[in-house]
Amino acid sequence: QTVRWRESDTAHHLHPFTDYKGLAEEGGSRIITHADGVHLTDSEGRRILDAMAGLWCVNVGYGRPELAQAAYDQMLQLPYYNAFFKTATPPSIELAAKLAELTPKGLDRAFFGSSGSDANDTMVRMVRHFWALKGQPEKTVFLSRVHAYHGSTMASASLGGQAAMHGQGGLPLPGFEHVMPPYWFDYGGELSPATFGEAAAQAVEDKILSIGPENVAAFVGEPLQGAGGVIIPPETYWPRVQDICRKYDVLLIVDEVITGFGRTGHWFASEYYGLEPDLMILAKGITSGYLPLSAVMVGPRVADTLIAEGGEFFHGFTYSGHPVACAVALENLAILEREQLVEKVRDDTGPYLARRLAELRDHPIVGEVRSLGLVGAVELCADPATRRHFEPLGKAGTICRDHCFASDVILRAVRDAMIVSPPLTFERTHIDQMVDTLRTCIDRTARDLGVL
Ligand code: PLP
Repeated sequence: QTVRWRESDTAHHLHPFTDYKGLAEEGGSRIITHADGVHLTDSEGRRILDAMAGLWCVNVGYGRPELAQAAYDQMLQLPYYNAFFKTATPPSIELAAKLAELTPKGLDRAFFGSSGSDANDTMVRMVRHFWALKGQPEKTVFLSRVHAYHGSTMASASLGGQAAMHGQGGLPLPGFEHVMPPYWFDYGGELSPATFGEAAAQAVEDKILSIGPENVAAFVGEPLQGAGGVIIPPETYWPRVQDICRKYDVLLIVDEVITGFGRTGHWFASEYYGLEPDLMILAKGITSGYLPLSAVMVGPRVADTLIAEGGEFFHGFTYSGHPVACAVALENLAILEREQLVEKVRDDTGPYLARRLAELRDHPIVGEVRSLGLVGAVELCADPATRRHFEPLGKAGTICRDHCFASDVILRAVRDAMIVSPPLTFERTHIDQMVDTLRTCIDRTARDLGVL
């Protein structure tokens, strides 16, 4: 069966973010057939520890009967209806209210979609519409950071700062600008992290001034840059950036697609960084990945203008506010609350992960470890003292990731940073297994590169 699946997959299935030739040369995909708790099972019966929670999204872990039941019940009662015809469904109404309660003060209205990418596209159109309504239609430029990831649609990939993505399809679109990320390891030079955080914020101000504040619609950022390599900004960064946005009347938009719903040990990382965004982007952990769902949370400034002055907002998706996805999201949030998973990450497993990762610092090819809650990175490099990378960049990460995969632990590599972002149900024993495997695999990587 496995061989047939692999052949068929290779023949018919174009995978996202995949080197097709490389996949074919390796003999095709590993087929995942089951999952329970924090483990996956492949078609050959091997159990795999999922230290990435799928794609940073399965916050409550796999195999939750409550979520299946919520979907089943809602499908029987009302599998679908839309919100276009001055209509709404109970799950979408209840979820919008629940999100208003959980998110930071002021973010009281939800616009639903199905993915983080479409939520960012919604945000771009909504913000440009807002500035036009305010009589400032020239405020169209979006500012974000190098290494940002905001999705794969034309607008969200333009918003992202991934050079490889921009290299395909003629991106970024006009009106999307990028500044230096608060990535001390690569950009910090001789500066202390705190001083560098201020310099990275200054880069935002300089860019706004060079574009002209009258042209800048919004600054968009992930509180910590996830798919860019778990870039955790110095504490000095966000307060300055928030002040700069206010100073120049630039909207502040946080993309909490990865950091939302407990990942950092807080419901939203904005709480941790003291951010009061005008809009917030949510997806992934909103349903723990059990069904596709996203939301743009909109604060009073934009929402009041849209409602009072906007007329019809010509935007929406067939699946905006899908009742089954919303019912699953509500039950998912109930699980997070009932099992106090956010508190568990904040008080127990988050600090434990930080302690265990810190033990890797003494390894001769580990340049830095960083984490917040249950998301972290271990930066591999040729010379920890000078933070010099291996060449070519990305090779060490790929080797190490493949060793982990072969050892039945899924981690991800971004360039040479080894990334972890496990389900929030991870116990200390899982963290031990993950970190111990990672150390063994870093040893193997060092030997493969001729360093040890
Ligand atoms: N924003 C962030 C911060 C993300 O990490 C992602 C996906 O990884 C997205 C947006 C895009 O979400 P989706 O893949 O659901 O379109």
